Amino acid sequence: MTDNSNKGPPKNIIETIRSWMGFENMPLKKDTLPPKSGFNIWYLMILFFFISLIQQFFFSPKVGPIPYSQFKQYVIEGKVGTLTIGPEKISGTLTEKQGQKFTTVRVDDPNLVKQLDEHGVSYFGRHENKFLGFLLAWVIPFGIFFLIVRFSMKKMGTGMGVMSFSKSKAKIFAESETKVSFEDAAGIDDAKEELQEVVEFLSNPGKFQKLGGRIPKGVLLVGPPGTGKTLLAKAVAGEAKVPFFSISGSEFVEMFVGVGAARVRDLFSQAAKQAPCIIFIDELDALGKARGMNVMGGHDEREQTLNQLLIEMDGFETNKGVIIMSATNRPEILDPALLRPGRFDRQVLVDRPDINGREAILKIHSKNVLLGPEVDLRKIAGRTPGFVGADLANLVNEAALLAARKSKETVEATEFDEAIDRVVGGLEKKNRVMNAREKEIVTFHESGHAIVAESVEHADPVHKISIIPRGIAALGYTQQQPTEDRYLMTRPELLDRLAVLLGGRVAEELVFEEISTGAQNDLQRATDIARSMVTEYGMSERLGLVTYERPRQSMFGPQGFASSNQTYSEEKAAQIDEEIARFVDEAHQRVRKILTERRGVLDKLAELLAEKESVQGEELRTMLSDSPHEAA
Ligand code: ADP
Ligand code: MG
Ligand code: ZN
Repeated sequence: MTDNSNKGPPKNIIETIRSWMGFENMPLKKDTLPPKSGFNIWYLMILFFFISLIQQFFFSPKVGPIPYSQFKQYVIEGKVGTLTIGPEKISGTLTEKQGQKFTTVRVDDPNLVKQLDEHGVSYFGRHENKFLGFLLAWVIPFGIFFLIVRFSMKKMGTGMGVMSFSKSKAKIFAESETKVSFEDAAGIDDAKEELQEVVEFLSNPGKFQKLGGRIPKGVLLVGPPGTGKTLLAKAVAGEAKVPFFSISGSEFVEMFVGVGAARVRDLFSQAAKQAPCIIFIDELDALGKARGMNVMGGHDEREQTLNQLLIEMDGFETNKGVIIMSATNRPEILDPALLRPGRFDRQVLVDRPDINGREAILKIHSKNVLLGPEVDLRKIAGRTPGFVGADLANLVNEAALLAARKSKETVEATEFDEAIDRVVGGLEKKNRVMNAREKEIVTFHESGHAIVAESVEHADPVHKISIIPRGIAALGYTQQQPTEDRYLMTRPELLDRLAVLLGGRVAEELVFEEISTGAQNDLQRATDIARSMVTEYGMSERLGLVTYERPRQSMFGPQGFASSNQTYSEEKAAQIDEEIARFVDEAHQRVRKILTERRGVLDKLAELLAEKESVQGEELRTMLSDSPHEAA
């Protein structure tokens, strides 16, 4: 809800109208709540009231109509000056009372003209211009009213322009307008690389069509807020030099039912005319929340809009040269239908930048800032783990403001220090930065996973180790790259996987006295594997080849209705638990042995991670080849 502390009388006409129309409690910003529906009746009523007021004021005669009989009386008494006779109305002036005006409604009176001639009244006929009257009385007030409303809407920046029932509000950027290029986004090289293909396709669609290559229809950029997703989408358009249609998911959430769907239709038909081009839907989650998730009856309008989007995407041929891009920081709540093949089937991760990335981003944003000679951007990057592009842009800006306040010629290191403290303070509240101690633990934890993965025979090779927080829960991550698709897993493979999962926790045990809660998810997954080995795959010698089904949840029915028919005895249950514990224990011992043997590499890797924040698998393998160990 917006903070509307100003409860006094409205200050200007726009506010007055807004308050009449019940707008005053509505959010003014696009990205707050969707406007309430159901006020449009009010809207019309007030409009009519307004117009009749205008008519009363401007178009009614100064003296009310007099009875026809009285008019005749005036004529007979010779009190009438001039007279204008219209088809329905007679108006005129009196000779007395300073020529007061009057009107009367004309009745069928064939003798009138004769009488007027007799009494020497001068009279005109008048051709009543109905159209003009209508124009004056209705169209112009309507027009003025709409102009005012529209103007006020624009000023408020709300997405509910009354005039634009179906016109898409997607802004059409001409080629030159997204002057953004890949150079403006740093620290997200993986994402840029993936998008390079899209750029190539857009700048030369013909080439791809000839070869019959399949181009993704929809590309979904996924990543935490402020990492540069919107920037990247613009950069793709800028690089390919194609028009860029952008609209935000929250703008679709409209007050009139059906408007959103009409807008989607409009957007796609506009885009089709301008191909090759990009349609960018920002904040897809506002629109694409899984349908039927809303307990309170749901939001019809949003669902209609979403359905329309799905229909348009399906009806679109990629070879027309239109690529639909979208961004979200909450992929988990998206409607699964959006992620189906032929829709947003390509997902690009836009991750938080590592130290090199942060340095590059700082460089971009301080291009136009006069830096003092002692400012070291590398050092600043080192002090800001967890910051995203938007935070860093904000940091440079804060520092520049501080310097300006102190009337300095250049921005110096002290301003950056101060600015970092400020920004970090804000982020700490949001739980987004690690303190030094946490960072140390995470470096050893992730190093543990990685070394175990490289030491056991059947684990996938390590692609990248990173301590940059990713997503919401994980503090760091070790990325393993499968070398082939697997449908079956052998016992040794499962045991190796179990070992890798325990690697993080064991490294913490070896290095620190106390252990942390960071391994919770690892342990849960390890236990799951061990349980499956015992109860489903028949891999425990003690329990043999019998499977022990666990209560399963229906795939389709409502959650929580598990059929809890345990088909084995309590005694067996205890044995199962023992076996699971044994598998995990054995893996624990094995991992301890590996990491104790390779403690040297563990320390070295952790140190490297602390310094660089992310380490490629290759580097780790080089380090390990200098430190052989017995096959585990
Ligand atoms: P998102 O859409 O992911 O929330 P934005 O693209 O809106 O983030 O980023 C907001 C601003 O932060 C950008 O306009 C840019 O100034 C800055 N920014 C974000 N990421 C980067 C980056 N990787 N490189 C340079 N600047 C960035
Ligand atoms: Mg954005
Ligand atoms: Zn872990």
